[in-house]
Amino acid sequence: MRAHLCAFLLAGFHLLVPPESFAQRIPKAIFIIADGIPADVLEKHPAPAMHALAAQATYTRAYVGGERGGYSQSPTISAVGYNSLLTGTWANKHQVWDNDIAAPSYRYPTLFRVMKSVHPEKTTGIFSTWLDNRTKLVGEGLAATGGIKIDFTADGYEHDTITYPHDADAAYIQLIDERVVSEADAVIRKQGPDLSWVYLEYTDDMGHRYGDSRQQYEAINLLDRQVARVAAAVAFREQQFAEDWMIIITTDHGRDSISGKDHGGQSDRERTTWIISNKKLGNEFKKPSMPAVVDIFPTVARHLQLQLPEWVERELDGQSLIGPLSISDLSAVKSGKEIELNWKSHNSEKLQLFAAPSDDPFHESSSQYSKIKSVQSAKGKMSFNDSFGSPWVRIVLKGRYNSANVWLKTK
Ligand SMILES: [Zn+2]
Repeated sequence: MRAHLCAFLLAGFHLLVPPESFAQRIPKAIFIIADGIPADVLEKHPAPAMHALAAQATYTRAYVGGERGGYSQSPTISAVGYNSLLTGTWANKHQVWDNDIAAPSYRYPTLFRVMKSVHPEKTTGIFSTWLDNRTKLVGEGLAATGGIKIDFTADGYEHDTITYPHDADAAYIQLIDERVVSEADAVIRKQGPDLSWVYLEYTDDMGHRYGDSRQQYEAINLLDRQVARVAAAVAFREQQFAEDWMIIITTDHGRDSISGKDHGGQSDRERTTWIISNKKLGNEFKKPSMPAVVDIFPTVARHLQLQLPEWVERELDGQSLIGPLSISDLSAVKSGKEIELNWKSHNSEKLQLFAAPSDDPFHESSSQYSKIKSVQSAKGKMSFNDSFGSPWVRIVLKGRYNSANVWLKTK
């Protein structure tokens, strides 16, 4: 009797232990891209679920578009932005310049591909109102992506014109967003993929048609309810399983400041986006500059405790918004025969300098980096002789926690 009671108490006790007290909760991540919502619109518009997440942990403005006027400048166009999130690089590397996705460079792998290559047993999900996200950007099944397979998918409904006849007001897109969220909700609750992407389009359609308008606000209302459903599914997982979920919600671009209908250019409003997370981002991050869409890859990777291969890490154009950092804000200029570097140091350590000559870094197939020297990070600057004689030099400064890279046109 006593033994039974003991077993019962133990079993009961086990059930009452909150997931937080498990030694190791399994990290999982989901990111939602809600298309084309300017930061100023989201900030002034009531969106209770998103604002609640923001109040719980993080809301920050962020940017897309690379360095304005620099080699990494990237159009503020949807697929360009999605791929900057997926690969952690700007368009000069990933080579997606518009929504045609004509010749992407799969040299810069997506987060999905990196996770699958490091942890083949981990699972992935893509729930999306645009099929190309999976088939072209992630490149499912392509030889160039190692034939990556996404485990759980809900997409392609925009091509099903029987179920979703295309109407002039794009109401069918709203219905597809709803379906995508319903399927994401079900898969999260049942299977809980380790890494998921939810892509929702309707907010951008209303922006294109009506600009800054009542219709756009209504689309954000609908989106907010969809975010609430995803957040509830995540909360369910955390109650039922020893899991630790990171939720990231962001947008792919802003809109023009005249009508709010267009985007693609480099104006402040088109470049300005936002990031909401249920995790505190930036707590150890000394804010070298405004967060960018390319910071999301290393942030999610760090949450997932993903050991990034060196060839991936050194090409990332952003840095993690959680945990420790070595360096950020690396810049390079040519001065006579010397290349001068400046950076922001976040840790007392020795950095290693690598460089690779290049005729055309936008289209090369590989980079042959060689180690040049080591330098104390705290100096924040150094110079070295440019003995390459090439039109471009690719430069990487490697630290303990992260690397930074820059391309320099030398001729
Ligand atoms: Zn877009």
